[in-house]
Amino acid sequence: MNRRTLRSVALDKVRIDDAFWNKYINLVEDVILPFQWELINDRVEGAEKSYCIRNFRIAGGSQEGGHKGMVFQDTDVAKWLEAVAYSLAKKPNEQLEKIADEAIDLIADAQCEDGYLNTYYTITGGRRWSDLFEGHELYTAGHMMEAAVAYYEATGKEKFLDVVSRFADYMCEVFGAEEGKNHGYPGHPEVELALVKLYRVTGRKRYLELADYFVRNRGSRPCYFESEECIREGKYIFPEFADFGLDYAQAHIPLKEQRTAEGHAVRAVYLYSAMADLADEYQDEELLKQCEALWEDITQKKMYITGSIGSAADGERFTCSYDLPNNTNYSESCATIGLAMFSNRMFRATRNGKYMDTVEQALYNTLLAGIAMDGKHFFYVNPLEVIPQVAENNPTMEHVKTMRQKWFGVACCPPNISRTLASISNYMYAMEGNTLYSNLFISSEIHGELEAGEIALRITADYPRDGKVQYEILGETAGKFVLAIRKPGYCSSYRMRINGEDCSPVCENGYLYLDREWQPGDKVEMILDVPFRFVRCNPRVNENIGKIALVKGPWVYCLEEADNGNYLKSIVVSSDTEIKEDFKEDTLGGILCAVFKGKRIDYSAISDELYTGEKPMYMEDEFTAVPYGVWNNRGKGEMIVWMREA
Ligand SMILES: [Zn+2]
Repeated sequence: MNRRTLRSVALDKVRIDDAFWNKYINLVEDVILPFQWELINDRVEGAEKSYCIRNFRIAGGSQEGGHKGMVFQDTDVAKWLEAVAYSLAKKPNEQLEKIADEAIDLIADAQCEDGYLNTYYTITGGRRWSDLFEGHELYTAGHMMEAAVAYYEATGKEKFLDVVSRFADYMCEVFGAEEGKNHGYPGHPEVELALVKLYRVTGRKRYLELADYFVRNRGSRPCYFESEECIREGKYIFPEFADFGLDYAQAHIPLKEQRTAEGHAVRAVYLYSAMADLADEYQDEELLKQCEALWEDITQKKMYITGSIGSAADGERFTCSYDLPNNTNYSESCATIGLAMFSNRMFRATRNGKYMDTVEQALYNTLLAGIAMDGKHFFYVNPLEVIPQVAENNPTMEHVKTMRQKWFGVACCPPNISRTLASISNYMYAMEGNTLYSNLFISSEIHGELEAGEIALRITADYPRDGKVQYEILGETAGKFVLAIRKPGYCSSYRMRINGEDCSPVCENGYLYLDREWQPGDKVEMILDVPFRFVRCNPRVNENIGKIALVKGPWVYCLEEADNGNYLKSIVVSSDTEIKEDFKEDTLGGILCAVFKGKRIDYSAISDELYTGEKPMYMEDEFTAVPYGVWNNRGKGEMIVWMREA
């Protein structure tokens, strides 16, 4: 077996200093982490209670009471710790580390003698592993493992890693193909990819094998979840799950036969992420092909232009191909993050840049839309079209919020967003052998180690506001290595100069490979063609027939009521209209707006009659569009992404 060779660059080796991303990344340490710590300790007035830390105290015996919150409430602290770890890896912070150590002590105290760790089952005395479909024990375990691996890598402290390793050892005894063992697998995938991470840091093969068992056994017949119904005698933790078919949890057919993305979107992409990891670890071509088929199915038939997935709120799930409603969709922030995770792993398994196009699409649009620019309010659901009075009064749209919320009882998304922002450099760079891959054009400095030795370089960009991206080789770096720069699929042309001289390097699978003897001070200047442009949707998507959306590089633009008044859906725009760039220094910390002319219905001339033979009158107007990622930061109002084409 060949070990995978593509590596991440350690977080402390990448220093990000980017006009666009600083606004979000700095929020993590300055605002989000302290705020979320208060939240999981139930100290924020007006926010839904988490009970997370309280549950650990009770499970550990230092406080009295019953379990409160969801079965997976423990993941609140796990995801918080994971984000803390990434933050500490980049910049030491004694105070933060001390709080994190205390949280880890609480977690360790709540661990049972045999290694089991879950406050819900420990406090309630419920039968362990009796409800894998809904109980989220393995899902919760996975988040603990991810956090522990990150904390160990950031601080070198082993306590948390030991806790989750003991838990994983115990799980290896409980689950597996051998007779007498539990033949189940998680209803909500997550532990699979976490076990791979734990294997990579500890080198203990049994963790990788357990992940492989969970993945390969999924959906086999007879289906484990059906036999489980007998164990739990029809009792449901979430009664609404009773109506969900096995496809909800990707167990409707054996996993190896699955070629289309089905069911709960977050579950699906967490599972596919683990599959991509395993395909890479075991160099399993067949599994990799299957991952490719699943990825194509998502991105070509079931993904929004904003990089979000999950068309239906009922079941938070995929529906069928080309069903992409703009105003009732679920498009959970976590699902977008999961899609970025899956796509990043596919890039690592294939070295194909098309996967990073999707990562970029997800990060620049829906990930950012999930968080307010104050760092304290979040979207769970990410529609592409909102009319507040409709969303607030139509019960079928109850899931659509017209303003970001402080905190949710089911708080999966907010800490998921912060851990992603805190570790964004994992998406920016990758290394193998003598090659450094540069995936995202975010101003930063990187220090890496290749076969040739230590290298350091700086990227300077204001992307995609400007298509110019400059790489400068720094310091002592010298020698022959390969700089592989992603050429985005949406970018039809580019120019490249090395030290002022034009060059046209080999472009393979979306990467420009610059293989040369580098000297300190060498400069690569790339000018990517990223104009504002209108795109159309495949007309099989009924919702978007006759509509256009405005994009610039990875940014998708939207119209907001704050700039354009209401009745946005009456706006008609010609794809030939001239787009003027307008950088608004004072708006939302500085954003690049697009200003263009079009028409809209003149409502002053509309009668009160509901039905009439008269055509509405249109009037000329000028409109201002903003990046979708920053929408809803200026109060409640209408928003649309897709506009009617003249
Ligand atoms: Zn979520």
